[in-house]
Amino acid sequence: MIGAGLAGLSAALALTARGRAVTVYEAAPVAGGRCRSYFDRDLGLTIDNGNHLLLSGNRATMRYLEVFGGRSGLARPDEPMFPFIDLTNQQRWTIRPNRGRIPWWVFSRARRVPGTTPMDYLALLRVLRLRTDVTVYDAIRKGTLYPPLIAPLTVAALNTQPEQALARLLAAVLRETLMKGGDACLPMFPRNGLSAALIDPAVAMLTGRGAALHFGRRIAALRIAGGRVAGLGGPDGPIPLDAEDAVVLAVPAWVASDLLPGLMVPTVFGPIVNVHFRLDADPGPAGFIGLLGGTAEWVFVKHGHVSTTTSAASRLVEMDANRIVASVWPDVRTALGLNGRTPPPPWRVVKERRATVTASATQERRRPAARTELANLVLAGDWTATGLPGTIEGAIRSGETAAGLCAG
Ligand SMILES: Cc1cc2nc3c(=O)[nH]c(=O)nc-3n(C[C@H](O)[C@H](O)[C@H](O)COP(=O)(O)OP(=O)(O)OC[C@H]3O[C@@H](n4cnc5c(N)ncnc54)[C@H](O)[C@@H]3O)c2cc1C
Repeated sequence: MIGAGLAGLSAALALTARGRAVTVYEAAPVAGGRCRSYFDRDLGLTIDNGNHLLLSGNRATMRYLEVFGGRSGLARPDEPMFPFIDLTNQQRWTIRPNRGRIPWWVFSRARRVPGTTPMDYLALLRVLRLRTDVTVYDAIRKGTLYPPLIAPLTVAALNTQPEQALARLLAAVLRETLMKGGDACLPMFPRNGLSAALIDPAVAMLTGRGAALHFGRRIAALRIAGGRVAGLGGPDGPIPLDAEDAVVLAVPAWVASDLLPGLMVPTVFGPIVNVHFRLDADPGPAGFIGLLGGTAEWVFVKHGHVSTTTSAASRLVEMDANRIVASVWPDVRTALGLNGRTPPPPWRVVKERRATVTASATQERRRPAARTELANLVLAGDWTATGLPGTIEGAIRSGETAAGLCAG
């Protein structure tokens, strides 16, 4: 296994469950890749590289968590709920899908977006039928549901602005969540850190199953001979492979194309900007809130800190951290109902410039299948052709696919 992000970990878990011997080489000193926590000395807090929201309909992720009984590491409300505030007029509402498959919640004013009618929600059904490369903007920008729900949902789930985002990738997300009813829409996020909830228990489980995990070991080359990978170039020299060894390349797209020249991979990635504030705040019933009309798009309340997310943040990511905070902090204050003059508490801005593959038609065509031309090499990663946007669910599913191919 090359890479111990979620794709590599999920592949390793699936293979060790089948009794296969697994060796993992990870370039970083820890596992987790783009989904990890670290201790920030200035803040005196463990923070995540970015807020990650999961839904109960992410079934591969739920399976992954079940392997180590890990759902308890995730905060979730008792009922599906998505609180929002419109910062332009301070209006607040909570979208509350009912738990069953029949979406009667759209008939309840108290559960749907204010100012919308049940008919507006038919736009979501229209998206499901799209088979072409039409963007979300071109497919459904007309209609009352677009500004308060469809546009923010697209940016959050696809990390791509609706003008570029493929409607069928949004449809793939909707099909597995909202269209399955509220039971598939329980929002979950790790309140004590991504690594504690999703990464460390997987590493412990793998170690317990006898897998060998090597951290700080970047693989710099693949030695190809006879249509297969015959060896790896490790930091301490060549690592030979046996005839029956298989390799899962679970690294980011740009690393995969360096290691395998000629491999077609996505080349455009969207940035996500997170700002963490050292602040104790009331989490409310959901633990997070969606924001319209500001710079911050989501505010998550965690232990000892509050974090904001702005996705598809091409403009913001270029700004100086002080300016970002000056723009985001008033949004947080309003969303959490803090005193209007409270200055920002200690903060940290985290810019992930290549957070996920851009969900455009051009990039979608560049996502390769797991199987490669080399007999013993398979690909894994959220950027492979999973049918989903670049997400935890896609990464974990790609790991399962890769494991299935290796196990034969
Ligand atoms: C800020 C942010 C917010 C996000 N929010 C969400 C969200 O709310 N919901 C959601 O579902 N998803 C979210 N995502 C996406 C999610 O984090 C990714 O889809 C997922 O973590 C990708 O996992 P991966 O294993 O495919 O790739 P990676 O996590 O990139 O793992 C690849 C691993 O390979 C290692 N590696 C690289 N080169 C080498 C080498 N040469 N040798 C050995 N190892 C190597 C890397 O160090 C890394 O550990 C977010 C991502 C970011 C960045």
